[in-house]
Amino acid sequence: MNIYAIIILTTLLVGYTLNIITDVLNLKALRKELPDEFTDVYDAEKYGKSQEYTRTTTKFGFMTSTFSLIVTLVFWFSGGFNYLDQIVRSWELHPIWTGLIYIGILILLRALLSLPFSIYSTFVIEERFGFNKTTPATFVLDLGKGLFLSVIIGGPLLAAVLAFFQYAGEWAWLYCWMGTVVFILFVQYIAPTWIMPLFNKFTPLEEGELRSAIENYATSVKFPLKGIFVMDGSKRSTKSNAFFTGFGKNKRIALFDTLIEKHSVRELVAVLAHEIGHYKKKHILKSMIISILHTGVMFYLLSIFLTHQGLFEAFYMDHMSVYAGLIFFGMLFTPIEMILSIFMNIFSRKNEYEADGFAAATTEQPESMVQALKNLSVDNLSNLTPHPFYVFLNYSHPPVLQRIKAIKAIAEV
Ligand SMILES: [Zn+2]
Repeated sequence: MNIYAIIILTTLLVGYTLNIITDVLNLKALRKELPDEFTDVYDAEKYGKSQEYTRTTTKFGFMTSTFSLIVTLVFWFSGGFNYLDQIVRSWELHPIWTGLIYIGILILLRALLSLPFSIYSTFVIEERFGFNKTTPATFVLDLGKGLFLSVIIGGPLLAAVLAFFQYAGEWAWLYCWMGTVVFILFVQYIAPTWIMPLFNKFTPLEEGELRSAIENYATSVKFPLKGIFVMDGSKRSTKSNAFFTGFGKNKRIALFDTLIEKHSVRELVAVLAHEIGHYKKKHILKSMIISILHTGVMFYLLSIFLTHQGLFEAFYMDHMSVYAGLIFFGMLFTPIEMILSIFMNIFSRKNEYEADGFAAATTEQPESMVQALKNLSVDNLSNLTPHPFYVFLNYSHPPVLQRIKAIKAIAEV
């Protein structure tokens, strides 16, 4: 085993073990007693159900990650990567096509293996807890549309990356970086009008109390709000959410129909104020800059490791190629990604506090934001008492009780 194989294998095993440890800690942190803050929205039975949901999804996560680890190791150490390469090479296609097909087959294999898990999660687990609204027809259509989009959007991008590294010489990483950034911005720009309507129906929010309350609020904080849409989230699940999409002039807010159904106008304005807070505090812009820099560093490191023969030997490859290098580099880069994601989560949790603070201050109704958070937790059966170490590694949002405490602290001042 060479150094690359050792690094990648260690990462896989450490990542897996860390997952199990944090999962166990998280399960142990579940307490029977309902936190005081939640006595008005939960009864003992429903709270018990939310904890059962945490237990069930955790166990299910353990099964999927174990399966995925075993499949990866078997495929790797039985020489699967090289075997597939020999097959695709024997078709003697243009190198770019060979690369697209090689990576395409790996992605397709992965998707096929995860399909039974996704079916079980949707139609058994989510169903049992009363979340599921997805029909088998919607499920199949979603898969088809997802595949279609990966081919027409992901395909050309991947082809461009492969071509740059094949033909553009030492500055290939820079071209890839610039190309990818332009491409991602473009996709984000067209997403609200061209991509998301493929999956959901977006109807402009009708005139009425809610619409005028939202518009009044947006005017009061000088936020140019172009479109307020209702999304038929209930097509797939009873879980609720709200989000902004697009940027520049193409920016719009989408409220799930399930959210509108279960929350008061004041809570909905608070939720929206939180989202606007992310814009006003420039969180969206900062995240975008970070991810652009991140992409650049990744392509630069990729360009270095593509020429390291050892990386290919670690996977028993007969030939070096850009496309296989892309996959192996992705695995080699995982430990760095793991560490980066911890910092990204810290950054993101800090932003959530700031957005909550913005909502509490500008709506002048901190209690509406608190109520919205509580009801959202109930809607989605969120874990109220996650273990701090689990939160540290995995949570992009602070646990709801801490958010409530922070909002109340601001309100007192
Ligand atoms: Zn947020």
